[in-house]
Amino acid sequence: MITQQLQLPNGQTIAYQLDLRARRSIGLKITAEGLVVHAPKRISASQLQQVLQEKSSWIQQKLALREANQVAPMQWLDGEPLLFMGQDIVLTLVAHPTSKAVTLEGDKLLVRSPYINNPDWVARKVLQWYAQQALPDFKRRVALIAAQMGEQVSGVGLSNAKSRWGSCNSRKQIRLNWRLIQAPPHVIQYVVCHEMAHLKEMNHSARFYAVQASLFPQYEHAEKALKALSPILHRMA
Ligand SMILES: [Zn+2]
Repeated sequence: MITQQLQLPNGQTIAYQLDLRARRSIGLKITAEGLVVHAPKRISASQLQQVLQEKSSWIQQKLALREANQVAPMQWLDGEPLLFMGQDIVLTLVAHPTSKAVTLEGDKLLVRSPYINNPDWVARKVLQWYAQQALPDFKRRVALIAAQMGEQVSGVGLSNAKSRWGSCNSRKQIRLNWRLIQAPPHVIQYVVCHEMAHLKEMNHSARFYAVQASLFPQYEHAEKALKALSPILHRMA
């Protein structure tokens, strides 16, 4: 993939990914990352330019639509929807003179505090709560899979990465993004299995995918679900 610039008739310049392949026609696609153009390997720059100009109103429309579909960031207000292990829950702010407890009761995440009107404070407390739920859940999953594999890990930690769901290093340390605890259990399980499969294969080779499939046969389905959920999982900064 090569990053290219396209000047639209309205003067707007957009970046797009150009993917040259053995194919006959030009294909345009809007992904989470923006415009991707698949084109024949031997296409000339002017030919490509011409097709993109012809399609420019389509491109503009699709990009605008994608922007409109992007999930609004959290405001940390009472009544805002949240996601926890695939369940819709509601942020519920309760003014309290002394308590600062955060508890999940039914579908309500109750945040009691004298500072409920301070979004930064509320955000910090809620993120802390998510991390507290995430770590024991991830640790339990890792322990079960490690036993099944006959492997040992040297540690499980949380990560706050923006673009990675997990990692596994040569010292057998597993890190998992705390945001995953918002996702349905099968999606969490898939990511844990992916990282655990790296204990056997430190790459994304066919052998790696065979290990991953032995731990989590429906990984393709879960991977798609995770991609689709990604904007929502990133609502909380
Ligand atoms: Zn991997």
